[in-house]
Amino acid sequence: MQALTQRSKPVSREPMSLMERIYLPAIFKGMVITFGHMFRKKPTINYPEQTRPFSPVFRGLQVLNRDEEGRERCTACGLCAVACPAEAITMEAAERKEGEENLYREEKYAARYEINMLRCIFCGLCEEACPKDAIYLSETVTPASFARKELIYGKTELLIPNPVTEPEAFAKAREARKDR
Ligand code: SF4
Ligand code: SF4
Repeated sequence: MQALTQRSKPVSREPMSLMERIYLPAIFKGMVITFGHMFRKKPTINYPEQTRPFSPVFRGLQVLNRDEEGRERCTACGLCAVACPAEAITMEAAERKEGEENLYREEKYAARYEINMLRCIFCGLCEEACPKDAIYLSETVTPASFARKELIYGKTELLIPNPVTEPEAFAKAREARKDR
């Protein structure tokens, strides 16, 4: 039968020499390689007990930001949704009512804000497009899930804890992105 490529090599059928038949040199050679690796620096870590620092350019789960008074920064302008190449962001805008000035920074806010994590490619364009510093990508990895529904993140999952009412949770969330 004609060979498909010229890369095949004929197998050597020569009888083994005495050294090859006793296998000891081959075993010794293998042990030298094994022991050599025992004294080298381990390239792996014991995850999840140990973790490595993220790259400075790592982009993880989005966070909807609040201002220093705990008010939501997002004004539902839609620029992030327009900038998103994966069309992962949807929102519904609402007018701020009287008495809600402590909840929403602007007169218009996002009553519903959703990111489809199955579509998101973590490019960071939503963060760059936002004129209100209302969204940023943290160093938190999006958890995996077997259910598609659980990967549509709403305001409950995305909104950062309130710095006024939940200072500890807020500090922890900010810790995930120290340069913010
Ligand atoms: S990170 Fe990129 S893909 Fe993900 S929501 Fe933002 S703009 Fe869309
Ligand atoms: S996150 Fe920023 S860009 Fe997106 S709707 Fe809110 S204010 Fe506009």
